[in-house]
Amino acid sequence: MVGQCIKPFLPRAELLNYFDAILRVYNRYGRRDNKYKARIKILVKDLTLEGFSREVESEWAHSRNGPDTISEAGFAAMEAFFDGPPLLVKHSPLDPVDADALRNNRAYSRWVQRNVALHRQPGYRLVTLTLKKTGIPPGDATADQMDVISVLAERFGTGEIRVTHEQNLVLPYVAREDLFELWAIASAYGLATPNAGLLTDVVCCPGGNFCSLANAESIPVANAIQERFDKIDYLFDLGPLELNISGCVNACGHHHIGHIGILGVDKNGEAWYQITIGGREGNRPNIGKVIGPSFAAADIPDTINILLETYVRLRNEGELFIDTVERVGLGPFRIAVYGAAHEANH
Ligand code: SF4
Repeated sequence: MVGQCIKPFLPRAELLNYFDAILRVYNRYGRRDNKYKARIKILVKDLTLEGFSREVESEWAHSRNGPDTISEAGFAAMEAFFDGPPLLVKHSPLDPVDADALRNNRAYSRWVQRNVALHRQPGYRLVTLTLKKTGIPPGDATADQMDVISVLAERFGTGEIRVTHEQNLVLPYVAREDLFELWAIASAYGLATPNAGLLTDVVCCPGGNFCSLANAESIPVANAIQERFDKIDYLFDLGPLELNISGCVNACGHHHIGHIGILGVDKNGEAWYQITIGGREGNRPNIGKVIGPSFAAADIPDTINILLETYVRLRNEGELFIDTVERVGLGPFRIAVYGAAHEANH
C-alpha cells in the first residue's frame, strides 16, 4: 500500500509527540507476535485508516504539549546543521578545458548528462558517484573505492558524502570548474558509470546471497540485467527507467514502486520471480501491477527485453517508459510477454 495522510496539518512543535503517539498505537495493537505481520501498514489495514487515525489522536491528547514538545530554540539548533558549509565561489562561467571536454569527450559529456545535477548555489553542481558498474553488486564499493571517494569528497567538495536510496553516493558541493578532473579520477576507479536514473542503475536488496528472509537471490538477477543491457547508447535511448528488485515481500529493494519491479517468490521451495510494471515514486506514487505468472531467473533478461521492445514500439516521442505504461495500460505488455491467448483469459 502507498502511505496515506492521517494528519493534514500538525504544528511542528508537536512532531515528536505525534510520532510517539503513532508508535504507542502500533505497540499496543500491532501484530508483534508474528514477524510477517509486524508492520504498521498491516495494522493500518486492520484498523482502517480512519480507525488508526482515531487511536493516534486519542493517544496524542495525552502527550500534547508534553516534555517532548520541540521548542523554537530546538528547531534553530537543528536547522544550523543544514545550513550548508560556507562556499568559496571560484567558478568561471565555463572553464575552457571543460568546454572542450564537453564538445569532444563523449564519455564525459554523458556523465555530465546523467550524473551531474544543477545546484541552488550558482557555480556548483551535485555529483552522483554511481555504484552500478556492470558485474558489481548494485550499491557495493570496495575498500579502495571508499578511500578514493573520501579523497574526492575532501578535494572537490566539503568532505560531505550522501548516500541515496538508489544505492549511489552524492557529493553535494562540487565546483563547476572541477567537474572534469573529478570525472577523470572517478572514472579510473569505476565510480563514474553514466547510468544514474537509467535501466542499469538497478536498486537491489541483498536477497538470498545474504538475507535469511529471502525467497530468492536478487544480486545475480541484477547482474544478469546489467550484462544484457550494457550498451550505453541503448540505455540513453530508453531514457529514465527505474528497475528495482526485492528478494521477498519485505520489499527492501522497493520493487513495488519501480517502473519495473522484480520480486522473488517461493513456489514449492523453488525461487521464482514476479514482475510488476507501472510502479512510481515521488509526488504521484503508484504500486506496480503484476504482469502475470512468475518466471525462472534465467528468463528474466529476455522478459525485460520484451517489455522494453514493447515500450519502444508504443512510446510517443519523448515519452518515458512509466508514462507509456500509464497511457496504454498493462494489456499490450502482457500480450507481448505471454501471448494474446493468455491476455484473453484475464
Ligand atoms: S526484501 Fe527480503 S530478501 Fe531482500 S533484504 Fe529485505 S528481507 Fe531480505
